[in-house]
Amino acid sequence: MALSGTVLVLSCRALSASPGMLLIQKDEVSCVRLLFMLTLLAAVLGLGIGSFLNVCICRLPEHRSIAWPRSSCPHCGRRLAPRDLVPVVSYLRLGGRCRYCREPISPQYPIVELATGLLFAAIVAAYGVSLASIKHMIFVSLLIVVAGTDINTRLIPNTVTYPGMAIGLILSLFVPGISLLQSIIGLLVCGGVVYLLALASRGGMGGGDIKLMGMMGAFLGWDAGLLALFIGALLGSVVGIERIALGKQKRRDPMPFGPFLAVGGLISAFFAPSILSFIFFQ
Ligand SMILES: [Zn+2]
Repeated sequence: MALSGTVLVLSCRALSASPGMLLIQKDEVSCVRLLFMLTLLAAVLGLGIGSFLNVCICRLPEHRSIAWPRSSCPHCGRRLAPRDLVPVVSYLRLGGRCRYCREPISPQYPIVELATGLLFAAIVAAYGVSLASIKHMIFVSLLIVVAGTDINTRLIPNTVTYPGMAIGLILSLFVPGISLLQSIIGLLVCGGVVYLLALASRGGMGGGDIKLMGMMGAFLGWDAGLLALFIGALLGSVVGIERIALGKQKRRDPMPFGPFLAVGGLISAFFAPSILSFIFFQ
């Protein structure tokens, strides 16, 4: 069923191990070529989806529609033409400035587009054309949006996390990996742990972080979800201590925690099985 990239390449290698079979070697070349084309296609899809994620990052915290109106320059208000909206390319061609008023465009736009493109390519390279890839693409998109809104506005919108929890639960019914029960337990355990941490930290973490972790638990299950939380907390602490040491931040200044949780979620989504088995079955 799942045309997993790794499985595809491995099965190609196994086939070509039989000596003197020119036909099979040809198959291997076409397998690798196919995987490369699919990865490239995923990157292009990711660039386009990244452009949409930028719209979500800018509009969801303000409760504006993500479908209408068309994008416009935040400085001069001019509606942007399709040629201004080509992911990454438009930004580079315009030198990072609006075509009409020449005010600088936030680097958030190309960064989000590029990150989504690269992550989508990595997903297809790892999971091929499969339901697991679709689940990962949705998860990655949700994480990019919450990281972006948390950095910009210190908000993690419920309009992302609540539907995200529902999608995580529903996908567990169709996608191999975790069962519905594991997804429900993941949601409750991960959300619950951050709820307790939020009580203990008295304002260090907010309701948005609790719902974000609940969503991540629904996608990853409780074990990979808690691993994501651990990685996020570790990264957040290292960056926080560094910023305090460099004088960029005071000890009591709150720092958005969502982006660190999102990075933890990304790492866990790709590597949790390897990391967990290394820790527990070493
Ligand atoms: Zn402008």
